[in-house]
Amino acid sequence: MLACDFSRLAEEIVAVEKAGADFLHLDVMDGHFVDNITFGPVLVKAIDKLAKVPLDTHLMIDHPDRYIGAFLDAGADILTIHVEASGNPERDLRAIRARGKKAGLSFNPDTPFSDVEPFLEELDLLLVMSVVPGFGGQSFIDTALPDLAKAAKLRERLGLTFAIEIDGGINPETAARARAAGADILVAGTAIFRTPDYGAAMASIRGPKTG
Ligand code: ZN
Repeated sequence: MLACDFSRLAEEIVAVEKAGADFLHLDVMDGHFVDNITFGPVLVKAIDKLAKVPLDTHLMIDHPDRYIGAFLDAGADILTIHVEASGNPERDLRAIRARGKKAGLSFNPDTPFSDVEPFLEELDLLLVMSVVPGFGGQSFIDTALPDLAKAAKLRERLGLTFAIEIDGGINPETAARARAAGADILVAGTAIFRTPDYGAAMASIRGPKTG
């Protein structure tokens, strides 16, 4: 949603839901973990009032444990923290699940996959960053592709069911490569909101139906 027109937030939410969005992805930035500052629980709560689809809330903030309760109270359905920002990812993921919500863990492009590997059994969603987080509209970093493949392979080997999501630089071309590498959920911002037809943009990002 970071790429939407916030002066027309309610209309934008209706438009992307009508266009077929499965989730609304909300990028929360604190000016510490990343340079940019976006919004907090107050706006998440407002979006929750307007939205019909689940809120996929991505915390790019330090000390996420301090804010888990506030974002869940605000209406986050999936709450994703960063492995680099959490002092204890296992504790934080369990705190989210204890509230009956879906727990996500994300990692930056320069963070090795091995940093998230110990927590795969504790999470419902693994969010692979394909840009350095902080701003919308960046180009896709290819090193995310082997991480997607690794996640898909490990999920199968361990008999787990977490979703694999990719975030950053997604457009129809990079989406196809991300899907092929194992991504289940594609986060797109400018590739939808900077086009005149959100439905057509989403269809080309989803690609041809399989299965
Ligand atoms: Zn995000």
